[in-house]
Amino acid sequence: MNEQSAHRADVYVDLDAVRHNVEVLSAHARSSGARTMAVVKADGYGHGAVATARAALRSGADWLGVALISEALRLREHGVRAPVLCWLYRPEDEIAAAVRAEVDLSVSTVAQLREVARAAASAGVTARVHLKIDTGLHRNGASAEEWGRLVDEAAKAAADGVVEVFAVWSHLACADEPGHPSVEMQARRFREAYLRALEAGLRPLRHLANSAALLTRPDLHFDMVRPGIALYGLDPVPQAGPHDLRPAMTFRSTVVLTRRIAAGESVSYGHSWTAPEETTVALVPVGYADGVPRSLSGRMSVWLGGRRRPVVGTVCMDQLVVWCGDDPVREGEEVVLFGPGDRGEPTADEWARELGTIHYEIVTGMARPRVSRTVPEEEP
Ligand SMILES: *Cc1c(COP(=O)(O)O)cnc(C)c1O
Repeated sequence: MNEQSAHRADVYVDLDAVRHNVEVLSAHARSSGARTMAVVKADGYGHGAVATARAALRSGADWLGVALISEALRLREHGVRAPVLCWLYRPEDEIAAAVRAEVDLSVSTVAQLREVARAAASAGVTARVHLKIDTGLHRNGASAEEWGRLVDEAAKAAADGVVEVFAVWSHLACADEPGHPSVEMQARRFREAYLRALEAGLRPLRHLANSAALLTRPDLHFDMVRPGIALYGLDPVPQAGPHDLRPAMTFRSTVVLTRRIAAGESVSYGHSWTAPEETTVALVPVGYADGVPRSLSGRMSVWLGGRRRPVVGTVCMDQLVVWCGDDPVREGEEVVLFGPGDRGEPTADEWARELGTIHYEIVTGMARPRVSRTVPEEEP
């Protein structure tokens, strides 16, 4: 069995593509004097957090961003020493462990500031925090009313040496719709919040931009940008492109069986497809348990034997069937479910459009126990 035929359900991650994307994105950031925080939450959007973090740090990123404390600690356990910001945690999470591991924490409320200060005091260290202002996304972040009190308390805690206020930050709601009026509104509120932090005596950095704002709004880069999806080569604002990004993920499998069926024979559960003529069909051992949405039944194709071929009948839990006509498709041949699109194979973006969702959800959804991941070794 050759290397390729070993794959039942495999996500291949092209770290060269990640490095290329980081170079492109961090060059944008540098041109406006900003640093780059590579966002590797949700296991690097399904690409593997540790490998993509290392690749990003070698290619122009200075910082890492994650949602969860467990994600930050995992980077540290793998020896990643770069600064990491973590922005979603509960009082019962390992705040003290995060502070000890020199993980920066986002702080949205005075109560959170106190929790972090307590954890820092118990660990005998200074906690570095990024104060978050809610400028309109209305998830976390301090409201405009709470902000003054938060920055004042943070200034006191900083004077006591319990915390260091590294930055003020916020997150945009509609940056992927260039020209959306909320972007201007959020930027204005962000600038006001920053001025209030200065009045409190703080001298923090500022960061606001996700991938979409990084690519379309250099005026909103401030001191640091936080690209996520674009690192992985998926463009959140293709209408404003091209942006020279290379998709890093390929989802692949292998033909395990081919057979001839007669005209009039139907395929898979429910017999939703009937062969119009005698044909070869190929069985591919991936299904909805491996991340192929069942709702793509009858609406998807795969790249097999040098061309796209339709998947016919219902996508099953573990298997799907491909219509091959009279072509000499064989067991062991590689099947690409989606990839960068360079060869003509379907892309994660096409899946997203067909499903009425965004490519973020497609690639992130590929992190599954039954799906292996192949990340060719980084150079030492
Ligand atoms: C996920 C996330 C990002 C990255 O967003 P992309 O749209 O993937 O670039 C940046 N900042 C925060 C707070 C996030 O949660």
